[in-house]
Amino acid sequence: MTTNRIALITGANKGIGFATARQLGALGMTVLVGARNAERGRAAERELRDGGADARFVPLDVTDAESVAAAAKLVESEYGRLDVLVNNAGIFLGDGPRALPSATTVATLRRVYETNVFGVATVTNALLPLLLRAPAARIVNVSSEVGSIAVMTNPDGALFELASVPYPSSKAALNMLTAMYAKELRDTRIKVNAANPGYCATDFNGNSGFRTAEQGAEVSVHLATLPADGPNGLLWGFQMDAGG
Ligand code: NDP
Repeated sequence: MTTNRIALITGANKGIGFATARQLGALGMTVLVGARNAERGRAAERELRDGGADARFVPLDVTDAESVAAAAKLVESEYGRLDVLVNNAGIFLGDGPRALPSATTVATLRRVYETNVFGVATVTNALLPLLLRAPAARIVNVSSEVGSIAVMTNPDGALFELASVPYPSSKAALNMLTAMYAKELRDTRIKVNAANPGYCATDFNGNSGFRTAEQGAEVSVHLATLPADGPNGLLWGFQMDAGG
């Protein structure tokens, strides 16, 4: 059995998740490449191994409770604990490119929440017993500043005109989920934080972001490697309005 720290990253076959797996692998962690599609997951595993990482594809669709349970079982039987969980898988959907809240269907809201909110709760609850067995586990929920009510309602801010509701509201819920898990776990060795990668060029936005996936991943890696006196329950990372 490996003595490496074990990190599971959801949606790790591409984009920020893949870059996070690569960076955590370079730190010497065993990286479990969560992916819902076996072909894409194996291709990512291969690429990470070719780069020198101890990587392993783990089938994981965060919207499928059976798939999540099977992944948790695999981690338990193979490794017995989990040191890092990065809830990275996420989707962006709307009813048309600029659909206002009043034109947004509940079906679309449900689809987005299934992945971005309920998926995170399902994965976290399934893996929590294994995270509690680790000496200093870290949970990172990949979120966004569009999930900040203060940012979205600031009339002078860069994001005020963004009116789409499913994705921002799902990340607002994720930020609250993060705060509540952090509160529950504050007397354990686990820290739970939300990452704001900034606007990164990935398939998510047709590669229009002005930061790279590697830069976005650095935020998750920072939170995945926090020291014992690090923060708990924060949304941390890139700040658009701060220009940083
Ligand atoms: P990508 O679209 O490049 O990657 C998303 C990943 O999530 C893919 O691996 C995708 O798998 C996976 N995924 C989607 N649904 C599921 C599911 N049900 N189960 C398992 N995996 C799933 O996006 P990014 O890398 O840009 O986004 C990663 C995270 O960063 C997301 O949570 C996003 O909200 C967040 N974020 C991104 C920003 C950006 O500018 N890019 C800005 C702020 C936050 P598949 O290949 O099978 O579709």
